[in-house]
Amino acid sequence: SLTGRLEGIFKKLTGRGGLTEQLVGETLEEIRVALLEADVSLDVVKSFTEGLSARLVGQAQKSGLTGAQQVIAEVYQEMVHILGDHRATIALASKPPTIIFMMGLQGSGKTTTAAKLALHFKGQNRRVLLVASDLARLAAIDQLKVLGEQIGVPVLLPPDGTTRPSDLYPLVKRRVIEGMYEVVIVDTAGRLTVDSALMGELKELRRLYSPKECLLVVDAMQGQEAVGVAKTFDAEIGVDGVVFTKLDGDTRGGAVLSIRQVLKKPIKFVGMGEKLDRLEAFFPDRMASRIIGMGDIQTLLEKAKNVVSQDEAEALARKMGKNKMDLDDFLQQIQSMKKIGSIDDLMGMIPGAASLKAKIDMGVMEAELKRVEAMIFSMTKKERANPDLIDGNRRKRIAQGSGTSVQQVNQLLRQFDQARRMMKTALKTKGSRSLRSMFP
Ligand code: GDP
Ligand code: MG
Repeated sequence: SLTGRLEGIFKKLTGRGGLTEQLVGETLEEIRVALLEADVSLDVVKSFTEGLSARLVGQAQKSGLTGAQQVIAEVYQEMVHILGDHRATIALASKPPTIIFMMGLQGSGKTTTAAKLALHFKGQNRRVLLVASDLARLAAIDQLKVLGEQIGVPVLLPPDGTTRPSDLYPLVKRRVIEGMYEVVIVDTAGRLTVDSALMGELKELRRLYSPKECLLVVDAMQGQEAVGVAKTFDAEIGVDGVVFTKLDGDTRGGAVLSIRQVLKKPIKFVGMGEKLDRLEAFFPDRMASRIIGMGDIQTLLEKAKNVVSQDEAEALARKMGKNKMDLDDFLQQIQSMKKIGSIDDLMGMIPGAASLKAKIDMGVMEAELKRVEAMIFSMTKKERANPDLIDGNRRKRIAQGSGTSVQQVNQLLRQFDQARRMMKTALKTKGSRSLRSMFP
């Protein structure tokens, strides 16, 4: 599966350290192949890898993230973009009823999805009517009737002898007025392949009903050919939104990734099972994390957004090494650490701190950080730039201003001094050229 392939690619990356041009190039190529094998359309693969390349090429290594994590974050973001960025819903008509058409190939899940949607709107306390307009198969009418009974939604059935779906329209109209229905879901006929008779029938129905939403139901287990079908439906009838069904199954993911780009129409819902409550709103971000197969991608992204760049980190390390790091730098570090929400990253940057890390209670550490921040805020600009200035009187003033004690101010200055010295020693022994290797 695509997810499996991507996981393999990311896993391989994990052992490869930082983000280099070569790494980016190779990864892009592997992702391209994985997408093609997942039956994503060629155009979409192209725009995906181009988008990804634009994000990654020339991007600086971020400290606090491995190269792999950085790549995953960008793949994820590009995927969200390909999938439509934002959630799309069905807007109800300003003047009821809102008429919704279910269209698609036979077996795609139209009838099931019609009932699922009916349940969805019923849950919003809307008056819903289902219309059995698939006259091609008698079984389809019975199927909808049974589903309607299950969810307690009325189903308008064609009277015996009805041969053309359009003949049903006057009955629907009357029933809607009588029953004051707000949402009308029409289950239309499908074929095994698109043919002109089907398109002609749907065109006529569309003209009669003027539906607010023509939803195309697509079986996610189908590959690229589903995209071709979708294109025909859109060109002939017009598609307002797509529902992917059977996403609970072993989908190749290709159609899901392709359709938004090819059709330029939003995916609105996904079917996650045969049961009628298994319809979910479509969220591009959730789908992207599903495809990528990462559990906690959100956390990773937060990190990616906030961490200091490699350049910033190096500049800081250099300053520290030359004994030029001042308390403003220290404050800046604390603030970026708070953005990350973890102190691991800074600890990782200070040589020798790794062993210390295990001994530290992170909760206590965070409280400590807040206190340190308060103390530095209470210092003047001069004091921050030159901590040696801070004598006894100044320490007292700082303690008062920050709601801490003189002991705590003493401790901060001692720690700061230590960090400075630690860095200096590390640089001397390692040589500044190996600076890079000190970063994760
Ligand atoms: P139609 O011919 O387009 O009306 O398709 P149906 O609604 O009759 O569905 C065809 C088959 O797909 C039925 O067996 C459904 O139970 C099944 N189905 C529909 N949606 C889903 C889904 O989201 N997940 C799974 N696993 N099966 C589905
Ligand atoms: Mg059906």
